[in-house]
Amino acid sequence: MRMTEESQSESRPFEADVARLLQLMVHSVYSEKSVFLRELIANAADACERLRYEAIAAPALLSDDPKPRITLLLDVDKRQLTVEDNGIGMSREEMVEALGTIARSGTKAFLDRLEMGKNDEDTALIGRFGVGFYSAFMVAERVEVMSRRAGTEVAHLWSSDGKGTFAVSAVAVADAPRRGTRVVLHLLEDAKSYTERSTVERLVQAQSGHVPVPIAIVDKPGAQASEITDGAALWAKPKAAITAADYNDFYRSIAGQFDEPSLTIHFHAEGRQDYTTLMFVPGTRPFDLFDPDRKGRIKLYVKRVFITDDADILPRYLRFVRGLVDSADLPLNVSREKIQESPLLVAIKKGATSRVLGEFERLADKEPETYAKIWELFGVVLKEGIYEDFERRDALLGLARFKTTAADSWRSLKDYAAALKPNQSAIYYLAGDDIERLKLSPHLEGFRARGVAVLLLSDPVDTFWVMSAGSFDGKPLKSVTQGAADLALIPLVDAREAPEPELQDSVKKFLVFVQNTLGDAVAQVRASDRLTDSAVCLVAPDQGPDRALEKLLAGAGRLNSASKPILEVNPRHQLVVALAALGEDERALKEDAAHLLLDEARVLEGDRPADARAFSERLARVLGKCAGRGASENRGS
Ligand code: ADP
Ligand code: MG
Repeated sequence: MRMTEESQSESRPFEADVARLLQLMVHSVYSEKSVFLRELIANAADACERLRYEAIAAPALLSDDPKPRITLLLDVDKRQLTVEDNGIGMSREEMVEALGTIARSGTKAFLDRLEMGKNDEDTALIGRFGVGFYSAFMVAERVEVMSRRAGTEVAHLWSSDGKGTFAVSAVAVADAPRRGTRVVLHLLEDAKSYTERSTVERLVQAQSGHVPVPIAIVDKPGAQASEITDGAALWAKPKAAITAADYNDFYRSIAGQFDEPSLTIHFHAEGRQDYTTLMFVPGTRPFDLFDPDRKGRIKLYVKRVFITDDADILPRYLRFVRGLVDSADLPLNVSREKIQESPLLVAIKKGATSRVLGEFERLADKEPETYAKIWELFGVVLKEGIYEDFERRDALLGLARFKTTAADSWRSLKDYAAALKPNQSAIYYLAGDDIERLKLSPHLEGFRARGVAVLLLSDPVDTFWVMSAGSFDGKPLKSVTQGAADLALIPLVDAREAPEPELQDSVKKFLVFVQNTLGDAVAQVRASDRLTDSAVCLVAPDQGPDRALEKLLAGAGRLNSASKPILEVNPRHQLVVALAALGEDERALKEDAAHLLLDEARVLEGDRPADARAFSERLARVLGKCAGRGASENRGS
């Protein structure tokens, strides 16, 4: 029964995302179609490395063919290119699963983005993404994959023209590779140059020169195989023997991302721990940077044997770093799970993390522009570390860069703290979701008037770390939307402006009137130091979350009882002075004005008036009055 099932040929449709990807591949206007070769070679190398790992526990899998190898076979007459490996191979089920679906994270995001707009920039994304096996359909009208899993006595053939379905059938073991996978591309007419030795060899050198498995070429059927790369581990070579181009090539082959790394970190640790790490900070953001499932991307090797890319070598906030660690001390013959618990690995993780942050510090110091570029790309991820990694909080705060009201360039907290104004005792910030809107916030006015710079925090993560960080270098971090601004002690920039006069009695009385009118809607109404141009703003009480965090929490339904805001009124503002001067006979107007002032403060924060109907009625009454006639005449029309 099972035998007949096995031998049956079966045709199946591709999973929806594969179909989308294939559609893209087949109709691709992407000019660098040759990336298909690096993808197939990368898969062949992965298969060899997986076999090497499984063979530690089951040496019999290697039988009499222990040396990993990738072979490229060219056939001009049949217009075929074959990529063959003696790696782990695939069972029937594995084939259906691996070559009918996409497991790669970020693929959906990638496809969505590509389909949104079809311009040149987007097609360039195809090359950067690392499209995987299906890229073969950019150059082939039919692809056949014949595979035999190590240690089994059966082989299967997968075949497709990339147009919606694929077929799988059993084949005679005698026709299949003895172990591993053979991928045969029936090339399209315009892709026949991939049967020329010079073309293929050049491509391999350029794209796959550092793949850790030797690659050989057979340039016509029956010819001798000749090795074109030696499969030596780049990271084990002395640094002096490695060029920048070598590093870049290697980055591309290990990261599956095809930009230039913005930072390369290669070091060998000796002493209590003997390990080498080669890590790269990419030059662009990976598509799945914010995918909650995104895992760390540092491969773990032990004595050149690939163990896992799942070892969480670096903390989550460094999840954009790609590369590998090769340990000389970890035992080879224990399970992946056991390795995770090893104190040796814990020490390696610490060492690698310190190294990355140390390199950032060095770069920030020596090449601030390169560092600024890294911060621009990944700062928003690094900031997660400020509240996730208590031990390194100070280091991360030191690495953080900010936009401020003072200049458009990035600024460090150290620079900020070094330029405090006389009597300024805190580091001030304003958090929100849009930097341009933040710049317009009335809360900043008094700070501007005193030349006090304010950090503008517009990433969602900011509201969280800023609460947990508390202080930097002994200076508390303080929201400008919170508490009393303590600004009165800091001198104004423009000396011509007279020192603050005492509050007029009428204004004091007016504030009490506003307070009584608004009642429970606000915690307090008070005169403001922080306003110079605007009439009003809302601030949060001294304790608890600032305005931005409170809104965030309320929006997420995570706030049981929102604290009431304080309404700050600018006692020097023309409007306020005029309202304060109104007599008792204008009480109704003053009441409307009190409510409108609160609504104005809400609108300035990007919110809506509490009661839209009441707001528009009050506005109509007040404007009507200005226009010299009662608004009530116009109502109900
Ligand atoms: P990725 O390599 O990122 O997983 P690919 O599209 O390149 O994505 O390959 C899909 C899957 O197909 C691989 O994960 C692997 O399981 C399987 N595969 C492809 N080529 C081979 C091969 N030569 N040997 C064994 N498995 C392979
Ligand atoms: Mg692949």
